[in-house]
Amino acid sequence: MTIYAVKECFLTLQGEGMQSGSRAVFLRFAGCNLWSGREQDRADAQCNFCDTHFVGTDGEGGGKFRSAGELAEHVERLWGEGNERRLVVITGGEPMLQLDEALVECLHERGFRVAVETNGTLPATAGIDWICVSPKAGTEVVQRSGDELKLVWPQQGIDPVELEGWAFNHFLIQPMDCERGDEARAAAIKLAMDRPQWRLSLQTHKVVGLA
Ligand code: SF4
Repeated sequence: MTIYAVKECFLTLQGEGMQSGSRAVFLRFAGCNLWSGREQDRADAQCNFCDTHFVGTDGEGGGKFRSAGELAEHVERLWGEGNERRLVVITGGEPMLQLDEALVECLHERGFRVAVETNGTLPATAGIDWICVSPKAGTEVVQRSGDELKLVWPQQGIDPVELEGWAFNHFLIQPMDCERGDEARAAAIKLAMDRPQWRLSLQTHKVVGLA
């Protein structure tokens, strides 16, 4: 029996990327393959600039779900009335550790478009409607195609010019949320100005005070 561990799940507006501003159920799976989520492990983790809490199942709308149908029902309940433009954004942690075809199917049956935000180190599950890959320096990205590539910037060890050859429809550059945020914003703006293939992406949910 598949058990899905969900850190949190709630109705909001998608904050980042090309679908920013869209009503969506946001489903954050627990766990990541690039960091344990414990502060004492951060310095040695493959990804060490994470700004999300993905450990455990104790967040708003989180919990353990015993089947794809049960989790899809939870998502549907959070969406509420109305069948139009149903969207679920599945993230983590790393969503590909848990998202399987059965869950994608159950969400489709309920009329949801399924979007994911992944670090790209695991192949995307079949049937996903919108794939956003956010590569992390020093990792082997196997998912090199999709809808949007969202590069958190700056990251030493990643060359954006190389990424331009990957098969994505949109290339987004997003300033890193860190202590040196001003420098990160300036670096992201510079890249978008120098290389027009890239668009600036902002974390609009933080600007407007949404989770
Ligand atoms: S890959 Fe994503 S979820 Fe995992 S540690 Fe990095 S930023 Fe956090």
